[in-house]
Amino acid sequence: MSIAKCMRRNKLLLIVGAIYLSLVVFKTDKAVQAFENSSYYIIEMLQIMPVIFILTSLIEAWIPREVIMNSFGESSGKKGAVISFLLGSVSAGPIYAAFPVCKMLIKKGAKISNIVIILSTWAVIKVPMLANEAKFLGLKFMAVRWILTTISIFIMAYLVSKIVQKDTIPVEDKKGNNDGIKKIGISKQYCIGCGLCEKLSPEIFKLIDGKATLIKEHTNTDVSDIEIIINKCPAKAIGYE
Ligand code: SF4
Repeated sequence: MSIAKCMRRNKLLLIVGAIYLSLVVFKTDKAVQAFENSSYYIIEMLQIMPVIFILTSLIEAWIPREVIMNSFGESSGKKGAVISFLLGSVSAGPIYAAFPVCKMLIKKGAKISNIVIILSTWAVIKVPMLANEAKFLGLKFMAVRWILTTISIFIMAYLVSKIVQKDTIPVEDKKGNNDGIKKIGISKQYCIGCGLCEKLSPEIFKLIDGKATLIKEHTNTDVSDIEIIINKCPAKAIGYE
């Protein structure tokens, strides 16, 4: 990778580094304070994130896509909303730990509104937080805030799902072949043979024995069509390898 490309990829890190450097030169006391705060958060993240990544990988590897889709997917309905609410409520740890989990759930077919419910309950009404809130601010305060926040979360989940399209969320890893094109694959056990992919892109997909099959590798010009097909496949059987 060229230096310019590497710098482009890490521009946020470089900007933060430059700010630190200027603080060291012009305001050393602030630089020390910033360094102490950063160290605290880095240590906290190092303690939490490995566990979250392992947990996410285990869920990704062990829990079949079908189960995730039934529990959180487009057809999960009220059940999906309730499960998402419970999952967020019983969670522990800071909100940034929820992002890799949610990314994995989207990748496996969870719908946007359920992700909003998980993230929001995790952030503002998880049970350990409520217990502390009741202790410091009183039971009535906690209960009223919980009810109003819960109502807001469901309204917000509905609105976000109407505004944000799933295909705008970068859930796939940026792996690619030598041409920089991500390879796609079809999970035949999930394919229900609806023929949608063939209809949308007959030069790449073909139904053979009732299952979608790749008949040609896609090129750079097909990428946006492929993204649409991946998102439209009702069984979420198409994805990047
Ligand atoms: Fe199978 Fe999905 Fe293609 Fe339908 S759209 S045939 S379910 S891969």
